[in-house]
Amino acid sequence: MAETTTSSERSTADWQAADAAHFLHPFTDFKALAAKGSRVIVKGDNIYLWDSEGHKMLDAMSGLWCVNVGYGREELIDAATRQLKELPFYNSFFQTSNPRAIELAELLAEISPPGFSHSFFTGSGSESIDTIVRMVRRYWDIKGQPARQHIISRNNAYHGSTMAGASLGGMSGMHEQGGLPIPGISHIEQPFWFGVGQGTDREEFGRKAASWLEARILKIGADKVAAFIGEPVQGAGGVIVPPASYWPEIQRICDKYGILLISDEVICGFGRTGNWFGCQTMGFKPDLMTFAKGITSGYIPLGGVLVGDKVARVLIEEGGEFNHGYTYSGHPVACAVAVENLRLIRREGLVERVRDDVGPYLAEGLAAIENHPLVGEVQSCGLMAAMQLVKDKANSTCFDSDVDVGMICRTICFEIGLVMRAVGDRMIIAPPLVITRAQIDEMVGLIRTALDRTLEELKRRGAV
Ligand code: PMP
Repeated sequence: MAETTTSSERSTADWQAADAAHFLHPFTDFKALAAKGSRVIVKGDNIYLWDSEGHKMLDAMSGLWCVNVGYGREELIDAATRQLKELPFYNSFFQTSNPRAIELAELLAEISPPGFSHSFFTGSGSESIDTIVRMVRRYWDIKGQPARQHIISRNNAYHGSTMAGASLGGMSGMHEQGGLPIPGISHIEQPFWFGVGQGTDREEFGRKAASWLEARILKIGADKVAAFIGEPVQGAGGVIVPPASYWPEIQRICDKYGILLISDEVICGFGRTGNWFGCQTMGFKPDLMTFAKGITSGYIPLGGVLVGDKVARVLIEEGGEFNHGYTYSGHPVACAVAVENLRLIRREGLVERVRDDVGPYLAEGLAAIENHPLVGEVQSCGLMAAMQLVKDKANSTCFDSDVDVGMICRTICFEIGLVMRAVGDRMIIAPPLVITRAQIDEMVGLIRTALDRTLEELKRRGAV
């Protein structure tokens, strides 16, 4: 390529050829994508995207669960520009700091639940997860209990793609590649009623799913367990909202055995569930929280760990040097965008809006979809939701995996101008928090059209 060009200066075919020749995409079958050609996204505004062919799409996934304030917000662009001019980079390693990182840490202490006063910054969700593994193990070392190394997570959890992130995640496809999980990590079954608990009472199932944690702790030995980690609502696993009984019971078990409780807030944080953090919606009090994505609305990479006072006190007062950190920990431009983004969320009351207005309104809209013949279950929490596609609604029978119903539906969504994601047979959405009621109507209308057309396509294939 000779010079930088704008999208309109190269044809889609040209972009696709260059993409296939040089760009290895995440979580992608490289050869298959090269044969097919990627969809080139060139523009975003509010909750809409445009591809290089000029097709407009409603982005019901907020990019990748992150563009909480929508595309094209001048406030964030200005904050980044100002900071780029003033101080584009400086590190926080050698007893230095910068105003934006300090302001961000201060603001996070303000908006987080009581008992959180300190933040450690990273560049992504995965780096935050790696940080937390090192941090909780270090904590127990300092406390004189170095045997407490083991971290318990859950099947079908997603905690990122670094060695520690993929290990803590419960995705078997990821474990198969690269000899994972790393030692000292194990998984219990997920609190997925539709998939694991059908035929039982939901709340009873929630308590049972929590009891699997206690059983695992006893098997390993409580004196060897450092922490339990979970997403308040599983995101990438398919927007799985646990029964209300689950998290309080998890909390009780962690307290009983003195095990640290980690809430992975990478998706649920910053308003997605109708509170600043998902743990508040689910009714539990973690010792540590990981965050990323929505903290900058995805405009620029930034992640981190909110460290509760119990852990922070030990690290600060008794720990000496913590031998961990990243070049971009506290990056001034990323922090400037985050500060402006959080102020904007606060100014526009987006968290309360999700809780009291658009969240319940989305739930109402989706309730009407629950009677669709393809939909076995709808779950939603704030502005994240899932629709479980089934072959036989009366008996909640799922499709055979070779039907790949999720991918059929997803392809149709793109054709009609809707970005909705498929996780197996679960169709999921997490639209920007700025979405209006009228736009929710538009989105739900598109979802219904997509489901109708999917059903037609399945009939055509003889799959239903
Ligand atoms: N934790 C959770 C709950 C996530 O959803 C993700 C990303 N989807 C991560 C961690 C990893 O974040 P990143 O992709 O920024 O590394």
